[in-house]
Amino acid sequence: MDLLKKTIEEEGVVLSPSVLKVDGFLNHKIDPILLDEIGKEFAGAFRNLGITKVLTIESGGIVPAFTTALYLNVPVVFAKKAEPSTMRNPKTCRVHSFTKNTDYTICIEQNTIHEGDRVLFIDDFLANGQAYLGIKKLVEDCHARLVASGFCIEKAWQPGHSILKQDGFPFKVLASIRHMSPEEGISWNYDTAET
Ligand code: 5GP
Repeated sequence: MDLLKKTIEEEGVVLSPSVLKVDGFLNHKIDPILLDEIGKEFAGAFRNLGITKVLTIESGGIVPAFTTALYLNVPVVFAKKAEPSTMRNPKTCRVHSFTKNTDYTICIEQNTIHEGDRVLFIDDFLANGQAYLGIKKLVEDCHARLVASGFCIEKAWQPGHSILKQDGFPFKVLASIRHMSPEEGISWNYDTAET
C-alpha cells in the first residue's frame, strides 16, 4: 500500500534493526486519512469471507481494526492486556510481547465472540506471530473461527510470516519490510505479502 509505505518512509523511525517506531501516525498520534485507507484496503481484501467480527489487541491494533470493521459493517472487539475487575467471564491467553520481551495475558469477555462467529484478526505489526497465536487460541476457546488476518506492517525476516503461511488461513500485509537499520533505513519487499 503506497500511502502507508510513503508515510513510514517519511515519519517512521528505525530504532534498531528489529524495531520500527510509528508513533507519528499509527501508535500514538493517528493519521485519520491513512487509517481510513487502511480500513478500506483490509475490508476490500476480506469482503467475501463472511466476516462477522473484527478482533485485535490493545492498543496499536484498535484504530486499523476499527476502520476495517466500519467498512465491513461488523462489530470490533479488542483484547485487553489486563483483566478488568468488571469482566464477568474472561477468556484469557498468555502472549509473549515482542517489544517488551515479557509475557502478558490478553483477555476478552466470553460473550463478545460467539460460537459460529467468523473472525478477522487485525494488528499493527506482524513480527514473531505471538499475538496471532494467542488470538487464534482465544477464538477457538470461544468456539468461533479465525478466518483471516491483516497486518499493517510486517518485518518479513521474523518468524510471523512463516507461521501464518503454514497455518494456511488467508492473510494480508500492507507494507512488507525486507530489511531495515538506523543507518540504511528501510528496504521493501515488492511482491504483495498476501496469501
Ligand atoms: P508478534 O506478536 O508478531 O511477535 O508482534 C506483534 C506485536 O508486537 C504487535 O502487536 C506490535 O504491537 C508489537 N510490535 C512488533 N514489532 C514491532 C515494531 O517494530 N514496532 C512497534 N511499535 N511494535 C511492534
